[in-house]
Amino acid sequence: MTEHFIDEKKIFELIENHSEPAKEKVREILTKAIEMNGLDIEDVAVLLNIKDQDLMQELFDTAFKIKNEIYGNRLVLFAPLYLSNYCSNNCLYCGFRADNTEIARRILTMDELKEETLEILRQGHKRVLMLMGENHKKSPFDYFLESIDTVYSVKDEKGSNIRRINIEIAPLTVDEFKLLADVPIGTYTVFQETYHQDTYKKMHPTGKKADYLWRLETMDRALENGMHDVGIGALFGLFDYRFEVLGLISHAKHLDEKYNVGPHTISIPRINPAQNAPASYNLVHEVTDEEFLKLVAILRCAVPYTGMILSTRESEKLRTQLFNLGISQISAGSKTNPGGYKQAITDEEFDSAQFSLNDCRTSGEIIQDVIRQGFVPSFCTACYRLGRVGADFMDLAKPGLIKCHCQPNALTTLKEYLIDYADDETKKMGEELIQKELALLPNELVQRKTTDFLLKIEKGERDLYM
Ligand code: SAM
Ligand code: SF4
Repeated sequence: MTEHFIDEKKIFELIENHSEPAKEKVREILTKAIEMNGLDIEDVAVLLNIKDQDLMQELFDTAFKIKNEIYGNRLVLFAPLYLSNYCSNNCLYCGFRADNTEIARRILTMDELKEETLEILRQGHKRVLMLMGENHKKSPFDYFLESIDTVYSVKDEKGSNIRRINIEIAPLTVDEFKLLADVPIGTYTVFQETYHQDTYKKMHPTGKKADYLWRLETMDRALENGMHDVGIGALFGLFDYRFEVLGLISHAKHLDEKYNVGPHTISIPRINPAQNAPASYNLVHEVTDEEFLKLVAILRCAVPYTGMILSTRESEKLRTQLFNLGISQISAGSKTNPGGYKQAITDEEFDSAQFSLNDCRTSGEIIQDVIRQGFVPSFCTACYRLGRVGADFMDLAKPGLIKCHCQPNALTTLKEYLIDYADDETKKMGEELIQKELALLPNELVQRKTTDFLLKIEKGERDLYM
């Protein structure tokens, strides 16, 4: 039974038993981490208790090395796309919760969804994360399936369309997963929010989401019924961050052991203020910026091949620091209210949003800044379209072979972006970066093929990938 993979007693004991880790022990674990075979849950507990500033720096340096070795300097970009803010759950931290009577509720029609998609495409995005509140009457599963078709059907003035849809919607039933198995989606994500049962109970007083195990077992149902790539996450600030990290690692290990494929991604949202959401203010378990940097670095050491996703909940300054510690995917230009991309920025926008954001820059500004920091913004969607998913993806990722695909695809998709959507300054900066990165590609063959693709893109071809 999956209910045992979160062993609360063991997690508390691990935190307690390693509360004052010896320097030698920490260094031994960091040396093991460099081998990039992941860490045991006990190792993670030790790292979580680092307090010494020198050791902290050594942890950051280790995470940086691993991140560079596996992911290089590319960052995959996506935009969240909210379909509906109707919700019958009552999560105390969320602005969409059923008892919030002051929020303006909205569900997008298919025409409105087309307009939203168009706005996202015009920002240069090729990958969206589709989300909605859980309300089986207002937004039934059929509506969601129709929405996927609609989003894929939209083309912008440049002839571009969304190439990969990831989804993050409430836990599905076995029958729903079976239906979804035939639909071209990328990753299916659900955050456990908190792995601590008592806190979970308090935070989710009513609605389907009140059932901890129903949510905890979502990824088992998903992997047993046709999903290939799944994403997990915890909402930091609900309980002790150390417990949540050990919960995430326990979850990842359970999936890896049982299905031979760990989570494709881990998300690490921190709670932001949301209207009429009492648990989004005055947090007892607030995670400081330093703790947040530490937990990202630890996750990178513990599950080196799992993508790590950072949203615009975090500030511009912190996001840049986190890129170096292990983040591989970021959202940009996000709106958390249905219809937010089309709508002008007004006070009403916050009124119908799920929570407030800290990085409110446009996609264009973020992309330019990513380039300025020396990272390659990537709009790549190749793996899932070539069927490099689930265990097949991991088989390529673990020996480091995926790099031969990711870096060239990052450069070709950036090239498309520069030609089709960027302003002159970004174009100039981006072209310089492409030339620099081209010279660093792993071998001559890959270099030649990439150069050929770049030339073809200049001549008007699109969507070339390897
Ligand atoms: N409603 C579905 C669910 O709860 O699984 C779909 C995802 S919900 C739209 C997206 C995520 O937003 C939630 O899983 C939660 O972790 C996060 N969230 C909710 N309120 C938040 C807040 N105040 N600050 C940051 N993240 C929040
Ligand atoms: Fe609804 Fe999800 Fe918000 Fe909970 S987190 S109230 S389920 S939208």
